[in-house]
Amino acid sequence: MAIDFAPSEEQRLLVESARQFLEREVYPHEAEVDRAGEVPEDLGRRIRERAIAQGLYAANMPDSVGGGGLDPVGLALLDRELGKAGWALRGYVGRPSAILMACAGEQRERYLRACVRGERHECFALTEPGAGSDAMAIATRAVRDGTDYVLNGTKHFISGVGVPDFAIVFAVTGTDDLASPAEAGFAKAGTPKGPRKRISAFLVDRGTAGFEMRRGPRCVSYRAYNNFELTFADCRIAAGQMLGEEGRGFDLANEWLADTRLLVAATCCGRAERVLDMAVEWAATRRQFGRTIGRFQGIGFKLADMATELRAADMLTLNAAWKLGQGTLTAADAAMAKLFASEMLGRVTDHAVQIFGGMGLMDEAPVERFWRDARVERIWDGTSEIQRHIIARELLRPRET
Ligand SMILES: Cc1cc2nc3c(=O)[nH]c(=O)nc-3n(C[C@H](O)[C@H](O)[C@H](O)COP(=O)(O)OP(=O)(O)OC[C@H]3O[C@@H](n4cnc5c(N)ncnc54)[C@H](O)[C@@H]3O)c2cc1C
Repeated sequence: MAIDFAPSEEQRLLVESARQFLEREVYPHEAEVDRAGEVPEDLGRRIRERAIAQGLYAANMPDSVGGGGLDPVGLALLDRELGKAGWALRGYVGRPSAILMACAGEQRERYLRACVRGERHECFALTEPGAGSDAMAIATRAVRDGTDYVLNGTKHFISGVGVPDFAIVFAVTGTDDLASPAEAGFAKAGTPKGPRKRISAFLVDRGTAGFEMRRGPRCVSYRAYNNFELTFADCRIAAGQMLGEEGRGFDLANEWLADTRLLVAATCCGRAERVLDMAVEWAATRRQFGRTIGRFQGIGFKLADMATELRAADMLTLNAAWKLGQGTLTAADAAMAKLFASEMLGRVTDHAVQIFGGMGLMDEAPVERFWRDARVERIWDGTSEIQRHIIARELLRPRET
């Protein structure tokens, strides 16, 4: 069986188109937006409009709903290129949450297709102050009341470009019926967690009474990428706002998490390539002790390690994307790509700061921004520790008695 690592002509053109787009529309504004901690509205709108015009918008969504219809490898290559830009601006080159494919009936036009067209955009609201890595611990509840659900609870660290038009909110809608009397007895005696929660997803529009969206604390990574705190106080929504089936919200979230873990991995590879390029340029031109610093083994070896690790992360990421396309991707495959690529980016950006010396910490050279931005990649969409748990579980499970 032949293994072909060469991108197709179509993939090459796609990446080239994204490269030109970033150089023209995004890179010139990056430093200023980061400094201000804010994206001016007209700049965000312009990037969105031009991304739509260039066919880069919603490239992750199937063509059956008006998206780009890219296969997972093509998408990983595009995410890698777009990932060279920070989330504050790149976020406007929309990539609607794949979970919206679960929209049914009237939801499809109002939420799914409107997001694919770039008319509306969403945020994904799972994390809570008391439930981060342990997402099953969420306390936001949705209680059925006639034809409505009434939501109460708080979400935090919820990212979004601009101000999202609606939130995909995860809430507890009950607990699973206990399957057997034996299980019931066990639960009554008190398991550490009690009966399994039924978690459902809901589409909640901004402006719904009882729903407030407030800016959260400022994050050092991707400074101008917003994060919000969402509160629901007796927020009443129609039962038709449920996304997918009752009690299946977590399955939807898990589907989405595999996709975003590959997105994080591809992004980290793109950003590492950009930083490596800056570091090579600096090391090849900065002179100390009468020669360029790249000629010192201490610096040259760093560059060699950075390039090697980047290549390895690329291979891992593209392999995982290829497996997704083949229908053979496991949770551990996606976790390995996310874990390795995000930790690689941490090392690469740290080496880059060292290679730049004092200039590496000044905001005149963009290296410090990449270094700061890289930090969140090991935390969001499942921390490195959680990725390791997933990988270890997949290794151990078949042999455990
Ligand atoms: C900038 C930013 C944007 C975000 N955007 C979103 C968003 O849009 N939507 C959303 O729902 N969430 C979002 N998040 C939340 C993110 O997914 C969580 O921060 C992440 O899952 C970790 O949860 P936590 O911060 O509560 O940390 P905790 O879960 O409290 O973890 C703290 C530390 O303990 C470790 N730890 C926890 N459990 C274990 C364990 N079993 N074994 C070993 N170590 C463990 C963690 O790895 C970590 O090092 C965002 C976060 C950030 C920082």
